Amino acid sequence: MRVLVIGAGIVGVTTAWYLTKQGHEVTVVERCSGPAMETSFANAGGVCPGFVGPWAAPGMPLKALKWMFKESAPLKFRPRLDVRQWSWMFRFLLNCTAARFAENKARMQLMAHYSKTCLVALREETGIAYDNAANGVLQIFATQEEMEGGARAAAVLERLGIAHRLVGREDVNAIEPALKTSAAEIRGGLHLPNDETGDCQLFCVRLAELLTARGCGFRYGTGVLRLDHAAGRIEKAVTTAGDIKADAYVVACGPFAPALLRTVGIRMPVYPVKGYSITCEITAPDQAPQSSVMDEHSKVMITRLGNRLRAAGVAEIAGFDRNLRETALADIRERARALFPDAADYARSSVWCGFRPMTPDGPARVGATEFGNLFVNAGHGSNGWTQACGTSSYLAAMISGRRPEIDY
Ligand SMILES: Cc1cc2nc3c(=O)[nH]c(=O)nc-3n(C[C@H](O)[C@H](O)[C@H](O)COP(=O)(O)OP(=O)(O)OC[C@H]3O[C@@H](n4cnc5c(N)ncnc54)[C@H](O)[C@@H]3O)c2cc1C
Repeated sequence: MRVLVIGAGIVGVTTAWYLTKQGHEVTVVERCSGPAMETSFANAGGVCPGFVGPWAAPGMPLKALKWMFKESAPLKFRPRLDVRQWSWMFRFLLNCTAARFAENKARMQLMAHYSKTCLVALREETGIAYDNAANGVLQIFATQEEMEGGARAAAVLERLGIAHRLVGREDVNAIEPALKTSAAEIRGGLHLPNDETGDCQLFCVRLAELLTARGCGFRYGTGVLRLDHAAGRIEKAVTTAGDIKADAYVVACGPFAPALLRTVGIRMPVYPVKGYSITCEITAPDQAPQSSVMDEHSKVMITRLGNRLRAAGVAEIAGFDRNLRETALADIRERARALFPDAADYARSSVWCGFRPMTPDGPARVGATEFGNLFVNAGHGSNGWTQACGTSSYLAAMISGRRPEIDY
């Protein structure tokens, strides 16, 4: 079958991979000049199934309200005259109950752990390297309240049978020795020894090369303007470089999926939640994180990617605003510097922002649509790197008429 995948972020490239493995003739169409130029470009680099869960959680509305009045807050709601923003927020609030949270978390956990298995298998099959490491991820806590939150998270991990360890300050230092010199308050942490790290963009670039060698086509610099349909099926994709016809179409456009789906009357509740990152050269390897540290206090994640340090965080619910807000970047940089003061050349960091494709409930949208040959793989929120191989393998099985390996 000829399949057109729209979007070459981590989700589009992995979709192409699993479809090609199923024997389909795949073309990927991407409006940017290469793979992973949007949200998958400079994320925090964590492949962390243990941390995957919805942001819509009990207690979140109150926290978000408090953060609204602070300039330096990990999450900011900037109200706009935009009905999509308000309806997304409304649905988000409806999902902040204990029951909805538990249900959404269970689905996301299932997908995230499946995804990790798929990623490991892909790596073993191809030998792909992407500044990756499998040294676990450490979440650190600064306050008693955060420690209690960590204990609750540990109880959930225990129930799910996921390897983890709640640790005190001394063990934090043993796991990440560079934190010994940190002046920041650290009371303890939660260590997930099986979580991984890696450069998502590098992975996409290398996987696209492997796909090209296997006959998959990539048409960069080509934007899909709309999809045309007749008799309940998509007939063609109208692009900036002419029409493209296929037997099946997959929308893998991350935060831009709703705009394309609207051209065929489908509403998708995905909203862009902006985040930022800085990347700098590591100048003192023994003063840098060995793996990845998620600082619960600031919600900044600091990861070693080869000889670079990446720090990422902040969430702004403010539409597609590409302005690189200096205070947000400074907050991230200063938190990384407070935790790992001598690790890197912070003054010469490259800076970036991207849009997490967030659904109001948490789980990504993966599967069929009302059009017989149109499929969706989008809405991976803050965990797209962690979940992409899983959702893509799942969707490829569905498109191929096979039973997916998990019930999502
Ligand atoms: C600050 C930050 C930190 C993060 N950290 C992590 C992390 O540590 N771990 C993790 O798992 N996740 C993380 N994420 C989330 C993760 O980066 C995203 O979930 C993931 O990149 C989404 O991938 P995607 O392929 O769906 O979207 P994208 O990467 O945005 O790809 C969509 C592609 O579709 C293309 N496109 C859109 N419209 C069209 C069109 N009409 N025609 C053609 N092409 C089109 C775009 O150009 C783009 O290349 C983070 C995100 C942010 C912002």
